[in-house]
Amino acid sequence: MSINSGKRILVTGGAGFIGSHLCEKLLEQGNDVICVDNMFTGQKRNIRHLMKNDYFEFLRKDIIENIYVECDQIYNLACPASPIHYQYDPIKTTKACFMGALNTLGLAKRCHARILQASTSEVYGDPEIHPQPESYRGCVNPIGIRSCYDEGKRIAETLVFDYHRQHKVDIKVVRIFNTYGPRMRPDDGRVVSNFIVQALRGQDITVYGDGTQTRSFCFVSDLVDGMIRMMNSRDGFTGPVNLGNPGEFTMLELAEMVIKLTGSHSKIIHMPLPEDDPAQRKPVIDLAKKELNWQPSIKLEDGLKETIKYFRETIDV
Ligand code: NAD
Ligand code: UDP
Repeated sequence: MSINSGKRILVTGGAGFIGSHLCEKLLEQGNDVICVDNMFTGQKRNIRHLMKNDYFEFLRKDIIENIYVECDQIYNLACPASPIHYQYDPIKTTKACFMGALNTLGLAKRCHARILQASTSEVYGDPEIHPQPESYRGCVNPIGIRSCYDEGKRIAETLVFDYHRQHKVDIKVVRIFNTYGPRMRPDDGRVVSNFIVQALRGQDITVYGDGTQTRSFCFVSDLVDGMIRMMNSRDGFTGPVNLGNPGEFTMLELAEMVIKLTGSHSKIIHMPLPEDDPAQRKPVIDLAKKELNWQPSIKLEDGLKETIKYFRETIDV
């Protein structure tokens, strides 16, 4: 497939989990890719194989500072995404969301570049309606421990739409639901990486709360395909558009699936449920189907097998 080949594309957060897969795909499609990352949660191993490519450039920079490059498209992904990482320095997280959006939008305005903002299902908070369509305005605690990220992403969406209305910046917004796959950090704290690493090491599988809370898990290649389709969607379609896999699983079901697929003897234990942990989450993806002709194709079991293979090859067990 070759859409938008030959463009100069900036990817912020490009050394992270999703960002590195995105950079790789954009290079495959014949683009020139500039990856900006401060390496807070990014890993050199994610982009080492791209460093040999003449069309790939890496800039170690913080998105809260101005960026001076020339580009045709911008994907703004720079932001820690796992609860333990975004809660480590919550003020910095809010700053990365707000300043990062402000700086990349300023750049988009100057370069007349199209910009795609990586938003999140967290803008729906702990949702009262299920599944969640884009029209749902969310139920977010503005003063809780998750709000640096949830509200940060919400104000980023606000800025993106105000730059569009006020300065005619060409914008695209995707709301990403839980995504998993190779290149997640083993110490990232998110549920898929935690369960797989625990299972491979024969450690207890830590289910928070009673494990009946649900999430919908999208494999990273499906997500990246959706993001690129959104970036190249018709003029005037701004989103926000949900990108996620509507298959919905409880955390207990996920734990059991990981135990089965790894052949582990690990036991499930229960730990306290973190504050403001959403009880359920599942995307309505009708808009993505209609506008982007997109829907995920990788079943959870198949995506988990790929991810387990990656962790087997990369972690000490
Ligand atoms: P990640 O932590 O692997 O990637 C984030 C990247 O951004 C890292 O490489 C990190 O070093 C970089 N970064 C963080 N702060 C920065 C700063 N101030 N300046 C420059 N770089 C900075 O997480 P990910 O899962 O790949 O998430 C990527 C994006 O997708 C994030 O914006 C996240 O909010 C969004 N998202 C991810 C998910 C998911 O399930 N993975 C769900 C919803 C939204
Ligand atoms: N979770 C869990 N055990 C873990 C890590 C997470 O049971 O070791 C739960 C967590 O409480 C949440 C779900 O898994 O209900 C997804 O958590 P994650 O941090 O992956 O993503 P988010 O909560 O941001 O959707």
